[in-house]
Amino acid sequence: MDSLSRNIASVRARMDAALVRAGRPGGSVLLCAVTKTRPVEQILALKELGVTLIGENRVQELSQKFGSLNGAFDIHFIGHLQTNKVRQVVPMVGMIQSVDSMRLARVVDAECARIQKTMDVLVEVNTSDETQKYGAREADLLPLLTGMAGLPNLRVRGLMTMAMLTDDTEKARACFRRLRGLRDRARAAGVPNAGMDHLSMGMTQDFEAAVEEGATMVRVGSALFEGKA
Ligand SMILES: *Cc1c(COP(=O)(O)O)cnc(C)c1O
Repeated sequence: MDSLSRNIASVRARMDAALVRAGRPGGSVLLCAVTKTRPVEQILALKELGVTLIGENRVQELSQKFGSLNGAFDIHFIGHLQTNKVRQVVPMVGMIQSVDSMRLARVVDAECARIQKTMDVLVEVNTSDETQKYGAREADLLPLLTGMAGLPNLRVRGLMTMAMLTDDTEKARACFRRLRGLRDRARAAGVPNAGMDHLSMGMTQDFEAAVEEGATMVRVGSALFEGKA
């Protein structure tokens, strides 16, 4: 086995073990392979290894690779999105995981209307209260979801977060718990048109804790391409 297939097998095994620890059914977490900075040949090799979903975080970089990836993957946009890049990104992706303001949501909706596309979106939440982080603040989440319910070309599928970047897994875990709690509150509030089936959380450093706390999708890059634990 080459290192890429070994790394994928190892990440999948660790995801499965975390599911077992949490008493969740096997295979109930999607692996989104984060392919930012990776060359097209490496990305295409993922396809042979059963990876169907990739995440990119820069519009320009995705545009450069997009032609070569040519329908091989379901592509999610996971990075901070500026409104002036929305027109470029909307035709390339099946989901935008990083919607964090009504202003951005409106621009995505308008572009989708223009090209007659319905876009799956996640609302990114700042669960660490770090000021440099993107993401909606907790207090703004329900108003944002309520506002987005009126945008007919968006389909809200859940929430996304980046945990505090720290060696202390318990601090990351607190962010994941917080996102799950917000998901539960959003469900209980019964906002119309706000599907809450996805929790996108967990990266190389903390994906096992995220799975234990209820992630339905993890976004892993380095552990796949560099084998980092
Ligand atoms: C880079 C990135 C990841 C993956 O990070 P790794 O530590 O390489 O696994 C996940 N989510 C987002 C939003 C990213 O930008």
